[in-house]
Amino acid sequence: MSFRRLERCRVCAGGPLESFLDLGETPLANSFLTKERLSDPEPRYPLELVFCRGCALVSLSAVVDPEVMFRDYIYVSGTSDTMPKHFAELGTEVVERFVGGPAGLVVELGSNDGTLLKAVKAAGARVLGVEPATNIAAIAEKAGIPTVNDFFSAALARTLRAERGPARAVLANNVVAHVHDVRDLVAGVHDLLDDDGVMVMEVPYLVDLLDRVEYDTVYHEHLSYFGLAPIVRLMADAGLHVFDVRRVAVHGGSLRVYASKDRRPAGAAVEELRALERDLQLDTLAPYEAFAERVRAQRSALVGLLRGLRAEGKRVAGYGAPAKGNTMLNYCGIDTTLLDYTVDKNPLKQGMFTPGTRLPVRGAETLVADRPDYVLLLAWNFADEILRQQAAYRESGGRFIHPLPEPRIL
Ligand code: ZN
Repeated sequence: MSFRRLERCRVCAGGPLESFLDLGETPLANSFLTKERLSDPEPRYPLELVFCRGCALVSLSAVVDPEVMFRDYIYVSGTSDTMPKHFAELGTEVVERFVGGPAGLVVELGSNDGTLLKAVKAAGARVLGVEPATNIAAIAEKAGIPTVNDFFSAALARTLRAERGPARAVLANNVVAHVHDVRDLVAGVHDLLDDDGVMVMEVPYLVDLLDRVEYDTVYHEHLSYFGLAPIVRLMADAGLHVFDVRRVAVHGGSLRVYASKDRRPAGAAVEELRALERDLQLDTLAPYEAFAERVRAQRSALVGLLRGLRAEGKRVAGYGAPAKGNTMLNYCGIDTTLLDYTVDKNPLKQGMFTPGTRLPVRGAETLVADRPDYVLLLAWNFADEILRQQAAYRESGGRFIHPLPEPRIL
């Protein structure tokens, strides 16, 4: 088996860990199938959430071997319209606030196809990416972003510092939640940073996940689901100081956290968010059990809606083949008996089939040509963008279904 049970909490190294939501055994959310592989058996792994009584970290109960998940990767940052805009803003902010001059080095962990570092470079800094996916690191290199094709670790951090000097900023955008040994990662960031250097990380925010019932963002690559409290603890243990924090709209609601080696004064936002988390009692099991109840209700409602439409003879397709869509499809048991196909703009996914549920993935232009009656928004985090782009489909009478927090026809 290429996974293991989480024995101790990865942030506080303690526990106990209490299970509160079991989403079943599912294939890896990014393991799309080619036509030739449709008859092969798919490896499945437990998808279950646990809560740590020691530090309030929410995480998966199982850790799949990262070599299986990240060496050949299909998510490319550059394919949506929303993310490049978000990265341009972030890249500019980092350079203006923390880098100071074109010689300053900015290192990004999990740099993907280099979309964010392109923005950093354009804003006037020296850049270096670290990206374990060989296929995607090659795309970044080709686009002029120097990229180390490896997993980041404290050991790699020492090598990078020796070869290239200390970093003014280390960016970890949507990657810390993917890493099992986060204590080693943060220790490495500490070692790589200049004395007044800054780490800027973004993770999907636990409060948004609970609030909007975004259970589909739970999949094997996302090992941790962070509130601010466990992040502050993780940073402090590595000698880093959280001095600023901001809620941002991407990925269904994320948290951007700023941490430094020096102890600069913390902005009011840090205490405000900590107070919010105390009010929500995120250090107790109660909010997680309430969330699990809402997840089960969403599944009943969505399956009921789709079966009802089928019974009326309606045709329903999906929009998007995001990793998270596969959690929802598999957990709800939505296969080709309920959806004809799904569409996606990522050419790497077109012509493939969704893991577990085997829906064919087609190009986005299919909707106008084929005109299904309804389209389930699997990529709901890009709802505004998709509705704009699909104006022609909607004008011809097509309707979208937003699945969360409870399914509704738009
Ligand atoms: Zn813990």
